[in-house]
Amino acid sequence: MQKVYNFNAGPSALPKEVLEKAQAELTNFNETGMSVMELSHRSKEYEAVHNEAISLFKELLNIPDSYKVLFLQGGASLQFSMVPLQFLKPGTIGNYILSGAWSEKALKEAKLIGETTIAGSTKNSEYRSIPAIDSLTFNDNDAYVHLTSNNTIYGTQWADFPAVTHAPLIADMSSDILSRPIDVEKFGLIYAGAQKNLGPSGITVAIIREDLLEAEVESVPSMLRYKTHSDTNSLYHTPPTFAIYMLRNVLQWAKEQGGVEAIERKNQEKAKLIYDAIDESNGFYTGHADKDARSLMNITFNLPSEEHNKTFLAKAKELGFVGLNGHRSVGGCRASTYNAVPLEACMALRDFMNDYRLNNQ
Ligand code: PMP
Repeated sequence: MQKVYNFNAGPSALPKEVLEKAQAELTNFNETGMSVMELSHRSKEYEAVHNEAISLFKELLNIPDSYKVLFLQGGASLQFSMVPLQFLKPGTIGNYILSGAWSEKALKEAKLIGETTIAGSTKNSEYRSIPAIDSLTFNDNDAYVHLTSNNTIYGTQWADFPAVTHAPLIADMSSDILSRPIDVEKFGLIYAGAQKNLGPSGITVAIIREDLLEAEVESVPSMLRYKTHSDTNSLYHTPPTFAIYMLRNVLQWAKEQGGVEAIERKNQEKAKLIYDAIDESNGFYTGHADKDARSLMNITFNLPSEEHNKTFLAKAKELGFVGLNGHRSVGGCRASTYNAVPLEACMALRDFMNDYRLNNQ
C-alpha cells in the first residue's frame, strides 16, 4: 500500500505505536481472555485503565490537586451548552472572546440560556489574529469569560492567555490540548474533545477547579452536571471504555516522548518546516493567519488562485497526503500537524510544496 501522510483536522493521526498496542491486545486484554471493550466498566481491570488515564493526564499537564479531571461525552459541542447551563445564572453574563467559528458556536449556545457579551473579536479581520489581551472588555458580573485556545479552522492560536481574576476563565482547548505546557491555574475550566491530540472521538476531557463544582445550578439534569461526574470519578454511567483505554495509551506514549515540553519542541520543529515553505515562496503560498498568531496545530494557506488550490490538492492526494483541504467553510489548504503527525510527514509536505511551486510558478 502507498505511504499515507495523515494531516486530517480531527479525527486525526494517532501514534502508530498506540494503534499497534491496541491491535496486539484487542482480543485478550491483560490476560482477561477478552477485549477491553468487553469488560465491565465496574471491573478492577477496567478501573485500573480509567484511573491511570486520569493520573497520567494530571501528571503530563501538571494539574494541581484542587482540580478534577472528568471524562464526558457529547464532544466539545455539548460543552458549549453545559458551560452556560451550569454557570450562567440570572443577573450574570457569559462573556465570550471570539477568535473563530468554534467560539461563535459556543456563544450561540450560551445565548439560548442567558445573557452574553463579546469581550473581544477578530471577526472583522477574517479571524487572522487573536484579540489583543489589553483590548478585552469585562463586566463586573461576568459569570465566566470563555475563549478558544486554538482555532482549528482559521489556524490561529493564543500564545499567552489573559490573567482573568474577576471570574473563571473557561477554555475550549479541543485542538491544542497536550501540545504544549499550560498554566492550569489561570483557568476555572478547560475542556477538549479527544479526537485531535488525545485519542479517538467519543470522549471529552474536562479539567475543572473544585470550587466551581459547588457553584452549579441545581435544576440542571444529572448527566449535564459536572458535579455528577466528579462525585462518581466519571463512572456515573457507562463511559466510552474503549476510547478511555485509547486515551490512556496515548498518554503513556506522550510520557515516553518526554512529556509536553518535548512534544511542544517537536511541534515547533514540524510547523516551522511548513511555515518556512510558505514564507520562502515569494508569495506563491500565503498563510491565512498573521505571523504572530500562527497555530502550531493547524497551518492554513492558499495558492495564487482557486485553480492552483484545486490542482495542488489533487496532486497531493495522488502522492498520499490526506486531509489537506481547508475546512469547507473557508476553502484553501490546511495541514493539521497534531502531536502524532511525524516529523517525516511534515518534511514530505514541505518537499512537495517546494516542488509544486518550482514546477508551477
Ligand atoms: N472546538 C474546537 C476548537 C474544535 O476544533 C472542534 C471540532 N473540530 C469542536 C470544538 C467541536 O468538537 P466536537 O466535534 O467534539 O463536538
